[in-house]
Amino acid sequence: MNPKYEAVIGLEVHAQLLTDTKIFCGCSTKFGVPPNTNVCPVCLGHPGVLPVMNKKVVEFTVLMGLATECTINEKSIFARKNYFYPDLPKGYQISQYEKPICEHGNISVEVKSGLKKNIGITRIHMEEDAGKSIHDQGDSTLIDVNRCGTPLMEIVSEPDMHSAEEAYLYLTKLKQIVTYLGICDGNMEEGSLRCDANVSVRLKGEEKFGTKTEVKNMNSFRNVEKAIEHEIERQIDILEDGGNIIQQTLLWDADANIVKPMRSKEEAHDYRYFPDPDLMPIVVSENWKNEIASSMPELPQKRRDRFISEFSLPKYDAEILTSSRELADYYESVLKVTNDYKSASNWVMTDVLKVVNEEKISITEFPVTPENIGNLIKLINENVINGKIAKEIFPEMLKTKKSPQEIIKEKNLVQITDTKEIETAIDKILLVNESQVKEYLSGKDKVIGFFVGQIMKETKGKANPQIVNDLLKKKLETFR
Ligand code: ADP
Ligand code: ZN
Ligand code: MG
Repeated sequence: MNPKYEAVIGLEVHAQLLTDTKIFCGCSTKFGVPPNTNVCPVCLGHPGVLPVMNKKVVEFTVLMGLATECTINEKSIFARKNYFYPDLPKGYQISQYEKPICEHGNISVEVKSGLKKNIGITRIHMEEDAGKSIHDQGDSTLIDVNRCGTPLMEIVSEPDMHSAEEAYLYLTKLKQIVTYLGICDGNMEEGSLRCDANVSVRLKGEEKFGTKTEVKNMNSFRNVEKAIEHEIERQIDILEDGGNIIQQTLLWDADANIVKPMRSKEEAHDYRYFPDPDLMPIVVSENWKNEIASSMPELPQKRRDRFISEFSLPKYDAEILTSSRELADYYESVLKVTNDYKSASNWVMTDVLKVVNEEKISITEFPVTPENIGNLIKLINENVINGKIAKEIFPEMLKTKKSPQEIIKEKNLVQITDTKEIETAIDKILLVNESQVKEYLSGKDKVIGFFVGQIMKETKGKANPQIVNDLLKKKLETFR
């Protein structure tokens, strides 16, 4: 990026709320049902019907507001945003405009250098989703209104970000918060989290913002980052060529890696916003707010810090283990069986996550229970098996879903700690490797590794490596 310039970025994120029913009617929000079946006169906007507020939507949005340090407005109102589009049968979208439910919050992110950076939240408001136009089935456009009235929460940030990376970090953090709260599944690929990026550039030192564009249609976190990077460069190129930025809405084309103009930017007055006369103001009393606050789960940052202090984990481990609520829960379930915190962290971060990533599954789909990972660690620590055998048992646990105890019994994998038995193996190996014994006696300590390998092989990997090492050295010394 041209060092003369600074980018300015603000994000508008729509998060689909995980309620069972729609925002103003009792229709199901279930995904994947036949088109136009989750509908009723209310969400179809038939004349004379009345919307009824879904209490859960308010509670979820307040929860998000509290999690991001927003002021929760005691009174907020719904407004009609009027526009015509085939997938909007009512002719208007019920949203919040002048008085949103949450304002003035912030989300803190950690930038590469490890520094914390606060990104302001301008507002969070509730609104309904529109339907869907389907253009890729036959010659005509099809309309599915199942999504009409699906509850959304829109989170608008301040223009506080200055690079695509910061936007990416902010979005990742936001997803982490909504999924920890359990109010949105955070899936961008499936559209339950949608992000519009407002981008402008200005000369460094300049106070006034440049003209912004709004980039839409990114369906992954990486695409948001790429689209912003691309848009920053595009604007700088135009300015460097002496041109002007046109305020407009752009569509990101992920295949071509370019943006395409969609429409010139509409202004608020185009929508003729006005308070919805069918809906009462939403009043969040102090009592209700406190009740919602009391249901707040431990948030990612707090949980990470607790993992560091309570389990003495390195920050790196704690960061990864608390990256999702499910993973953190999994780790803490391992600890119900063992209090070897660091071993538990190692097993989860390497062995478990390796499979999760390779198989592209979520931790909740992982076939081995956390209790059995705990059992495996316990068996190592109690000297029933050694670490090497544990690594062999693990794939077996994955395949069979059996407990490590069962597998050890079936395959007779119990560690050999009997010194007599180990000594016999040592004697046998030393006897047939006379030249290596001579090497050792002449000062070549390195052959110890060779002997240990042979002895482990002789005992089918079951000997306790510590005992092998101790007895082996003692034995070799007797030859001097
Ligand atoms: P609009 O009226 O176009 O909707 P808003 O003022 O409501 O614009 O802001 C929408 C989003 O754009 C917010 O996230 C805000 O932070 C961001 N934003 C506003 N001005 C700029 C700018 N000059 N450059 C980048 N982002 C901006
Ligand atoms: Zn309905
Ligand atoms: Mg706006």
